[in-house]
Amino acid sequence: MEQSFENLVPYAKSIGAVDAKLMKARDIVLDSRSLLKCRFGCGRWGKYWTCQPNIGISIDEFTETLQKYQTALVLKCVEPKIAQEITLAVEKEAMMQHGAIFAFGMALCVQCEDCAFPDPCRFPHLARPSMDGLGIDIAKTVEPLGFKVEFDAQGNLLPAWYTMVLLD
Ligand code: SF4
Repeated sequence: MEQSFENLVPYAKSIGAVDAKLMKARDIVLDSRSLLKCRFGCGRWGKYWTCQPNIGISIDEFTETLQKYQTALVLKCVEPKIAQEITLAVEKEAMMQHGAIFAFGMALCVQCEDCAFPDPCRFPHLARPSMDGLGIDIAKTVEPLGFKVEFDAQGNLLPAWYTMVLLD
């Protein structure tokens, strides 16, 4: 099944992703403790439509839904706005070119400086939930794919934003 989505890897890189790797959806690591980190310590809790508890999909519901997917694409980008744009572009490409009608991107929504919540979302066609808000342990999911913490020649930490598109 992965074979048919392989062209999404060079496509993602061609539009600005630092890296992109296909994975089996069953290897996505879920950990409900991610919700604790959302609830305590993150200023976005309750303030964004795309963050808990406003997503409207519980971790249990997402866990059940995830069983339907077989393949996912992990994207690595240098900053969140680019990451959101590339994630949406890959989601669209998967739908248009591969007929993956349930392709679904997950990326921190940074479309607006301040979310419109509780008023209606300004750009619902661009807004997607964050991975950790749905219970995904991002580090444990991407590390087996070879994604590592990287530094430049001066020893500065290179920024990395990870997003995902569930494909089929
Ligand atoms: S697009 Fe804007 S209003 Fe909609 S969820 Fe994202 S930040 Fe909030």
